[in-house]
Amino acid sequence: LTPVPSDIEISRAQTPKPVDQLAEEIGLLPEELEPYGRSKAKVRLSVLDRLHTQPDGKYVLVAGITPTPLGEGKSTVTIGLVQALSAHLKLNSFACLRQPSQGPTFGVKGGAAGGGYAQVIPMEEFNLHLTGDIHAITAANNLVAAAIDARMLHEATQSDKALFNRLVPSVNGVRRFSPIQISRLHRLGINKTEPASLTPQEVSAFARLDLDPSKITWQRVVDTNDRFLRKITVGQASTEKGQLREVCSIHIFTTGFDIAVASEIMAILALADSLEDMKNRLARMVVGTSRSGQPVTAEDLGVSGALAVLMKDAIKPTLMQTLEGSPVFVHAGPFANIAHGNSSVLADKLALKLVGRDGFVVTEAGFGADIGMEKFFNIKCRASGLRPDVMVLVATVRALKMHGGGPNVTAGAPLPREYIDENLSLVSGGCRSNLRKQIQIAHLFGVPVVVAVNVFKTDTQAEIDVVCQLAKECGASDAVPCHHWAQGGRGSLELAQAVNEAASRPSNFQFLYNTEMPTVEKIRTIAQKVYGADDIELSPEAKAKIDYYSQQGYGSLPICMAKTHLSLSHMPDKKGAPTGFILPIRDVRASIGAGFIYPLVGTMSTMPGLPTRPCFYDIDLDPVTEEITGLF
Ligand code: ADP
Repeated sequence: LTPVPSDIEISRAQTPKPVDQLAEEIGLLPEELEPYGRSKAKVRLSVLDRLHTQPDGKYVLVAGITPTPLGEGKSTVTIGLVQALSAHLKLNSFACLRQPSQGPTFGVKGGAAGGGYAQVIPMEEFNLHLTGDIHAITAANNLVAAAIDARMLHEATQSDKALFNRLVPSVNGVRRFSPIQISRLHRLGINKTEPASLTPQEVSAFARLDLDPSKITWQRVVDTNDRFLRKITVGQASTEKGQLREVCSIHIFTTGFDIAVASEIMAILALADSLEDMKNRLARMVVGTSRSGQPVTAEDLGVSGALAVLMKDAIKPTLMQTLEGSPVFVHAGPFANIAHGNSSVLADKLALKLVGRDGFVVTEAGFGADIGMEKFFNIKCRASGLRPDVMVLVATVRALKMHGGGPNVTAGAPLPREYIDENLSLVSGGCRSNLRKQIQIAHLFGVPVVVAVNVFKTDTQAEIDVVCQLAKECGASDAVPCHHWAQGGRGSLELAQAVNEAASRPSNFQFLYNTEMPTVEKIRTIAQKVYGADDIELSPEAKAKIDYYSQQGYGSLPICMAKTHLSLSHMPDKKGAPTGFILPIRDVRASIGAGFIYPLVGTMSTMPGLPTRPCFYDIDLDPVTEEITGLF
């Protein structure tokens, strides 16, 4: 329809096919499905065993140029491409997307179901609670937080013997260690299984984690943009006997309240490749350091088994469909500027088996290629062992104009004139700077690049032609306009053909760095080769943390840079392809369960706030029809 109706009107006008019908069409057996309502279902991981001899399909990554704060349409391109591949080219295809956080849905950006005629439906179910995975993550995360503070209180108020007797209670006159406690004993080097045989020193070492309150790195989480939780004090009731702890998340140097999707448990969900792997990763999570300088883990707290129980359903991807009935897995949703910003390894693996040799799986990485794509290759592909065949780089005329020198684009404000009228010099300036650099970054990994120009109604043909021509001059295998937002799958046919063609050529995938390199060298390699920095500058705190993590045996982990997504550099207002800058590394933290070290570049907040007029003002429910309005 012209004009294109609102996202929710389009979504509601289409009745999704029953999820069991969709499952049958894509080759799932009834017993492999756990329906949640009529149009979505969790898919059991046993499918991987049943199909283990089936060859994988082609693997396509969608990333973008450095975006404006409005988003440049990676989700819509992902969905439009899958609609074109499956409904129009008749190739088995799957989209793998992240689950949106309620922070942006009720805050500034809105939902993440795509938009126009390239959406996941029902979009209100996609954008809200889905199948409860983020709630499970929140519950698991906060159980760890509660365990930490309670344990410190009990250690502060009890003798070694009393603590030990409560931790290893006597049942029918016999004390026995639990399996989790036996692993803790092994890690302490105590090879005894009989509680009565421990010496007083061993009793003390076992019973006291002796957490240093100033070195607790674990945060509490909630999936709401609640800025007033950025800095809080816990333990103020008299029952906590003065065990006050001030917590702050603004610079993530200390512990505090974060948004749930920035949590380590979310990253683990996205990177685990089986239930057992997830359980082991949850056990390895380091929550802080003891006064003697030893890392303290979730397993030391005795909580790792309970975490696996809370997360046992979250590990199964959720099956949904696009507006045109193509299958979609929605699974995990780590933030891309602070965590690694990609949907789950398991969803991609299941989808690759389900589409088979000639099919396509299109998966999306958050923000620009310098962020989401770099982490997709260096972190996700390392964890999964999967190798992409093609990379689709999404560009818009509006973002290119911004990189070519156009005025700032602000969410909620009208677009300046330059973005509505034709302006070829701004467009070509953006192509010769940011687009060129992002294509070069993709080439560092040896994967062919197809540029997808996501067309908006204000773009002129001459502007689109300039982008396609310059993208090819900058080394893209192909560059095509996409009209999926206004036309659905048929508007992305040219992109589907270009991707099909690029996937038939060999890809020479390689990692950017070897994980055995020293941590500082890995950070420097990303800063120089990907961001274009002259060098890095480490704060004394960052230097000390790198030394500490290396001594603890965490020196061979990949790097997850926490950097602004609004510039290739650390300065959000520097557009295009900045050069001549030194990248400041303010601090370095470790997500040992997820399996990465994360350097903090500049000031990053892990708890967003709400603006004066958040999206929730427009969201409403009709109590008679139960229709939701205002989601987008
Ligand atoms: P990203 O995944 O890159 O953040 P999205 O696909 O979520 O971006 O799109 C951001 C917003 O822009 C969504 O509200 C979407 O409906 C809208 N949008 C995307 N492409 C177009 C287009 N071609 N025309 C108009 N609006 C669009």
